[in-house]
Amino acid sequence: MVEIAEEKSVPALPPWRLQDFEIGKPLGRGKFGKVYLAREKQSKYIVALKVIFKEQLAKYRLHHQLRREIEIQSSLSHPNVLRLFGWFHDEHRIFLILEYAGRGELFKELRRSEYLSEKRAATYIASLAKALAYCHEKHVIHRDIKPENLLLDLEGRLKIADFGWSVQSRSKRLTMCGTLDYLAPEMVTNKAHDYTVDNWTLGILCYEFLYGVPPFEAESQEDTFKRIVEIDLSFPPTAHVSAEAKDLICRLLVKDSFKRLSLEKILDHPWIIRNADPSGTCIEKGIESK
Ligand code: AMP
Repeated sequence: MVEIAEEKSVPALPPWRLQDFEIGKPLGRGKFGKVYLAREKQSKYIVALKVIFKEQLAKYRLHHQLRREIEIQSSLSHPNVLRLFGWFHDEHRIFLILEYAGRGELFKELRRSEYLSEKRAATYIASLAKALAYCHEKHVIHRDIKPENLLLDLEGRLKIADFGWSVQSRSKRLTMCGTLDYLAPEMVTNKAHDYTVDNWTLGILCYEFLYGVPPFEAESQEDTFKRIVEIDLSFPPTAHVSAEAKDLICRLLVKDSFKRLSLEKILDHPWIIRNADPSGTCIEKGIESK
């Protein structure tokens, strides 16, 4: 006798609706709408709800970028990548249900206190290297790692946010804000590039964490461009940055992308081993000031 397995139909989950959430204080304002603290009513789970106005999306023709952000970010699950739990929409708005990063933008803290301690900087660089290694394994190149895209959770763990906007936001930054600071030489000169552009950006961020300004900052976009292409790198004399930290930066800010230190080797670098907190959290209150 042949047994026929009963076919069980899996009930589809009902889509999320705004009524499923209690909305709290605004957390910030982005280019296309606001982000609010929110709590899912049944589970009491705290999230950040990002509201994007459809009109704005249409105006800037960003449907594809948003679709890509949703597809990429919801497929990634790593302690240092901001989770995207789901999305829903109503007549005028699209809502992204995001992991809540309770301490907000890392760079707001950096601007307040000028520079980070080596311990904290190394912890963040190690977290970024781990997150990017995970992303590269999944064939995702962020290409747009920049200060505004780095958030901190309540324990001080770094989270990479904003996937999928890279092309659009990069071109906007070039034309509107004039910020080339985080881009690799092959990107500013419009050459073909690959995942090693993210490794370059780690060198830029490591410098900025330790000195408070990105290494190729200049008065004009043209001057920044020139400094990046020429790798015009110098280290201001300060007591708080070790030779090992400078060594790591020099091994990342290399024009030939093949010669940049790999993400695995960053994690093995003596400065990282000596300074990075293996838990990835920074529990000290605030950031070191001068
Ligand atoms: P965005 O629209 O992504 O540029 O976000 C605007 C601002 O909202 C950011 O600068 C953050 O300060 C805040 N924000 C965005 N996402 C989150 C989040 N998941 N958790 C906490 N704050 C956030």
